[in-house]
Amino acid sequence: MIKRLLKSLLNILLYPFRLIMKIVIGLLKRLRFSIAFKISASYVLIYIIIILIVAVSTSAGCMVFEFQKFERNTVNQDVENIKKEFPYLKGEIPISSSARSFEIYNDDLNSVYPDNNDKRYSDNIIVVLERLLYSREYLYSTAFEFDNSYYYLNISYDAEIMIYDAFKIIVLVLASGALGLLIFVPVISSTSYRLTGPIKNMTEITKTITVNNINTRLDIKGTQDELKELSQTFNEMMDRIEQGYKFQQQFVSDASHELRTPIAVIKGYVNMLDRWGKNDKAVLEESIGAIKNETDNMQDLIEKLLFIARSDKGNLAYSKEDFKISTILNEIEKETKMIDTVHKLYFKFYDDANVYGDIKRVKQAIRIIIDNSIKYTPAGGYIMVSGFLQDDYYVIKIEDTGIGIDKKDLGKIFDRLYRAEQSRSKEIGGHGLGLSIAKIIVLGHKGKIRVKSTIGKGSEFSIMLPYIN
Ligand code: ADP
Repeated sequence: MIKRLLKSLLNILLYPFRLIMKIVIGLLKRLRFSIAFKISASYVLIYIIIILIVAVSTSAGCMVFEFQKFERNTVNQDVENIKKEFPYLKGEIPISSSARSFEIYNDDLNSVYPDNNDKRYSDNIIVVLERLLYSREYLYSTAFEFDNSYYYLNISYDAEIMIYDAFKIIVLVLASGALGLLIFVPVISSTSYRLTGPIKNMTEITKTITVNNINTRLDIKGTQDELKELSQTFNEMMDRIEQGYKFQQQFVSDASHELRTPIAVIKGYVNMLDRWGKNDKAVLEESIGAIKNETDNMQDLIEKLLFIARSDKGNLAYSKEDFKISTILNEIEKETKMIDTVHKLYFKFYDDANVYGDIKRVKQAIRIIIDNSIKYTPAGGYIMVSGFLQDDYYVIKIEDTGIGIDKKDLGKIFDRLYRAEQSRSKEIGGHGLGLSIAKIIVLGHKGKIRVKSTIGKGSEFSIMLPYIN
């Protein structure tokens, strides 16, 4: 019961603070204020709450102190006087003028003085507080012994002056708090504007960044704080975007270049046909053959470019299933032996394994590597394809005794449209897209692709695919 009453009293006392908080937070949420304003407002709010708490607790403390002093000086004296006169309390009793009334109760808490008392004995703190707030009286309770019996005494005092004093203290603290606010507000608002200044700066600079000035970066000078970290992260992100953008630009320019050559060739033959081809059968046949060749070449290039574009967009769909790797390895062996009669070919598959993947794509990736070995190995050279299990992977190793790859090119051969210098001949052909595609496929199967090569001696490519036990 007392607990509940105390709780509701606390609720009543805290209600104004809660209301202010609710209104302010609601307002801040609704309005689009700057962060600096919000920081200042929050600090001001905290300041006001602290001042209110200080004001209330100071005045409550002073009141308690006043009451204790009052008890020592006046109340104790009054209690002694009452006790002296008891039980013959008739006529004038020498008690202080601030006492409004007093009552005495016996051991059973029945009133013995005055006769017509309909009040109840109370030493309950809630009642004391209630009387203080509503009737502005201070209720003092005590017990004394008389004639081997216990008696209880309640004296009510006028607490008007003490309450007025407490009120004066609240007003005083609030007034000095308001004065402090005059200094606090400008200080806190200038500090928060200074703190959030770099954000404004960042926003202004960020707004100006376009593809034309993609190399613009945020200023990261100054103190080491979260905003500097944010700027640094932003700059690093811009570095990556710039790199990607340049890479993309380079890719578009290289791809256009690759397409320009076959178109120029086709145009040349069409002109030739236009002039002489109508009557000259030899010219006609040569032109048709060349145009067919170039259009095949272009189609191949466009398909590869589309594959890469789809992969970049995340639109590349694999239709994966469980399959035995030996099925595609045997097919590849047969096909290679059929198309390549100029090299010494060796196929040796030591193990078999189940792989979860897209059969067509996996085969495409292996084919790209074998076709490269065929392309970059002079006639009579060796090409060895082996398959075996190693740790968690099924490894397909393709070794050749071809022209090899220079150390400086090794890191770049998987880049789009990159071709090592010694292989950029018209006869060999190729667009520098095969290995990029093979890499996309292998990574799309959670696999790895490795290369070792020595210029002039040969190369060794390994496709590693995770297998299912
Ligand atoms: P390309 O169509 O030019 O063959 P790829 O992406 O398949 O394109 O290969 C990129 C480059 O890597 C080739 O141009 C070539 O310089 C080099 N390369 C790839 N495979 C081999 C190999 N087996 N031997 C020597 N060089 C190779």
